[in-house]
Amino acid sequence: MPWCEPCEKNWTPTSVGTDGACPDCGVPLEGTPGVRHETQEIPATPWHFWVGVVAAGAYLLWRAVEGMLLLF
Ligand SMILES: [Zn+2]
Repeated sequence: MPWCEPCEKNWTPTSVGTDGACPDCGVPLEGTPGVRHETQEIPATPWHFWVGVVAAGAYLLWRAVEGMLLLF
């Protein structure tokens, strides 16, 4: 729901202008569909996550090798 801070009023999406501005004061409204307020960020995987994945994989691989060695 588009909310205007200066007017303290909720607008229906159809009552706001096509530019997403308040009909009363012209302030760009929050939550207006089609109006992007924040830049889209690509969720980056931190490098230490992959360190953990590699470490866990190496550990499991070693445990598998160890288990195989116990058979003989
Ligand atoms: Zn307003």
